[in-house]
Amino acid sequence: ENYSKSEILQMVEEEDVEFIRLQFTDMFGVLKNVAIPSSRLIKAMENRCTIDTASLDGFTGEEERDLYLKPDLSTFSILPWRPQQGKVARFLCDVCREDGTEIEDSPRSILKRVVKKAQEKGYTLKVNPECEFFLFHTDDNGMPTTLTHEKAGYLDTSPIDLGENTRRDIILTLEEMGYEIDSSHHEISPAQHEIDFTYENAMATADKIMTFKMAVRTIAKRYGLHATFMPKPRAEVNGSGMHLNMRLLKDGKNIFKGEDGALSAEGEAFLAGILYHIQGMTAVMNPLVNSYKRLVPGFEAPSEVTWSRIQRNALVHVRKERGGEVNLELRSPDSASNPYLVFALCLAAGMEGIEKGLQVPEELTKDIRNLNEEEKKLLGIQMLPENLGEAIKAMGQDTLVSKVLGETYRKGYMKAKRKEWKDYLEQVSEWELNRYLYRV
Ligand code: GLN
Ligand code: MG
Ligand code: MG
Ligand code: MG
Repeated sequence: ENYSKSEILQMVEEEDVEFIRLQFTDMFGVLKNVAIPSSRLIKAMENRCTIDTASLDGFTGEEERDLYLKPDLSTFSILPWRPQQGKVARFLCDVCREDGTEIEDSPRSILKRVVKKAQEKGYTLKVNPECEFFLFHTDDNGMPTTLTHEKAGYLDTSPIDLGENTRRDIILTLEEMGYEIDSSHHEISPAQHEIDFTYENAMATADKIMTFKMAVRTIAKRYGLHATFMPKPRAEVNGSGMHLNMRLLKDGKNIFKGEDGALSAEGEAFLAGILYHIQGMTAVMNPLVNSYKRLVPGFEAPSEVTWSRIQRNALVHVRKERGGEVNLELRSPDSASNPYLVFALCLAAGMEGIEKGLQVPEELTKDIRNLNEEEKKLLGIQMLPENLGEAIKAMGQDTLVSKVLGETYRKGYMKAKRKEWKDYLEQVSEWELNRYLYRV
């Protein structure tokens, strides 16, 4: 909602709010915050609260150490899990310089720029994500494990589904915060759950994902469980994705919708743009070393660059909904990603597809799950980057990605991710010891 400053002051007064959290998302998609007592609210709404960015991951500009937080008043909400007397509210903030201008390389400003550019041409991206996560036990020291004694699978009911009360509480909490939720269910792996949102503007959805993850973790903890969005916490079962269902509106109409429920020509071009840039965007959509352990055959996650109306496991599934709506479901992103950047890249790549009139590659019509690499190659199927190292390389070669993120951001991100990849490569793992120590 679009609150005015005086409305906010009034709500804070009436609701007995004692603390305000000024939240923002860092380069890697982590939510950060500063808490202020509500006596400092006016100062905060005049954008006068500062953060020293020197110790923050990824705010690279040395010269811009002290930055200001500019609360987005429409994001005001009370955190329902905090005490009900002396409540805690929060704002999501933009990050500004002393003169009030937003810094270019914060995730929210990056998305804002792309959204604005699309809007100038009359287009609005609507996104509806499907967030998957695990609820694991904690050990005697309160540390997270990957253990569960749940044995439920896809769409199972209680009492096999042991997470139903946690899920219920998560959804009620989000609704209390003013968010709309479409549905939820137990996912395929034991202790894995999914909560689906509704279609909203890209910025609102990205904000909602950040809030969602905070709520899920907090509520799970109340039940003694550890919620994790780690893409592949257990090797032997499905990992957790964040499928993105997208629609592109022009004059209030979903332009993906063609004749007779087919994907329109503009929709095909948008899809073509995403497929063209997917390799370069993957380091953002699948940002962890661990992300690539999810993107392997056999676990309903994509590993090839494909699209299909019938093959549900394709990278992009073109979905025809009841009532004639047509959506694109991009299935590679995971919840470890920074949603602002993911949406910015999807929208920019799709818009480029429309502007250049890019052609979609041939549709995947058959089941390729049992084909080997050679056979896939013969069919002309391209692969997604196999690991973070490959993804970083592809990112460096994609000029659109660099244009969308800005050079400072792209460089800082790639540097950090390259280091993460190298750190990983230098490890000697349990697997290697088991495999080699006795034999070699
Ligand atoms: N968990 C799967 C993934 O990694 C998706 C499974 C599903 O939603 N059908 O993307
Ligand atoms: Mg789903
Ligand atoms: Mg799912
Ligand atoms: Mg899905």
